[in-house]
Amino acid sequence: MRILEPGHVEASAGKIHFLFLPGRDIFKRRAERFRSLSGGHPLGDYFSFLALLSDVQQKALDRASAPLLPDASKQALCRETGMPLLDCRTLHRDQTWVQGLEMILMQMKGNPSLTHAANDTVTGLMRADETLLEKKADRILAGDLADISPGELPFIAAALQVYWVHMATLLGENTFGRTQQGGLCPVCGSPPGAGIIGASGERQGLRYLCCPLCSSQWHMVRLKCSSCESTGEVMFYAIEGSNGAVKAEGCGACNVYQKLFYLEKDPWMETMADDLATIALDMLMDKEGYMRGGPNLFFHPGRLH
Ligand SMILES: [Zn+2]
Ligand SMILES: [Zn+2]
Repeated sequence: MRILEPGHVEASAGKIHFLFLPGRDIFKRRAERFRSLSGGHPLGDYFSFLALLSDVQQKALDRASAPLLPDASKQALCRETGMPLLDCRTLHRDQTWVQGLEMILMQMKGNPSLTHAANDTVTGLMRADETLLEKKADRILAGDLADISPGELPFIAAALQVYWVHMATLLGENTFGRTQQGGLCPVCGSPPGAGIIGASGERQGLRYLCCPLCSSQWHMVRLKCSSCESTGEVMFYAIEGSNGAVKAEGCGACNVYQKLFYLEKDPWMETMADDLATIALDMLMDKEGYMRGGPNLFFHPGRLH
């Protein structure tokens, strides 16, 4: 269903808090949301699995060893040139992420709630050599999922998320500046997986784009396409009969859409979990001829077709 969205006036950009990094409890909170969404949802079993995976991610983050971080001169250069400091396509990953993956796989292996297929995937990844894992990680980070199976995607992505959240939170918010391309994550350069419209405090009525990798949220004015930055051709869609908490913003200029989560309608929404819970909206946008912007790293797009 196509709907109208009223115009919005925002405070000048200088007064707006530009970037929020995730809290160190991000995965615990996500696990709770997946758990609460699992009852009665057609993807309920998958959400229970993802709740477990998010819990294990939290453990991996809590126990992660110190990663290699960019030095002060690289930090200053990125701020000056508007480049994302922890660019997911070019950053040289150290061993920390593979250690995180090993920890995640060890914790998941043999869990009674895992399906046989998921257990086989865990075993396969535990036996995979590091070169192959690095190659798969490169593909996922480049958005090329052709050689990645829907079963292995969430495990590798989970470890990459832990690694990026770990680095970002150790460096702190002030390390990162605005990037040249406002539609990309200023921390890691990923395209946003969703947008969130704040309901209270300094975020009230403002749109923040959400990173599917490092879970950072950064400000972008509303009614502007985050993919091509055009402002004139944005249309809004929602599932017939929904309460308006989730809408899709489709851009007529580039045909990319992005979901928006309105916290005033439901303050408990979490972008990654609620994105998967509203997959019907992705199917609608697919039918309308739009392409999705950033990914949800727990969902292989091949599952939609
Ligand atoms: Zn990011
Ligand atoms: Zn666009």
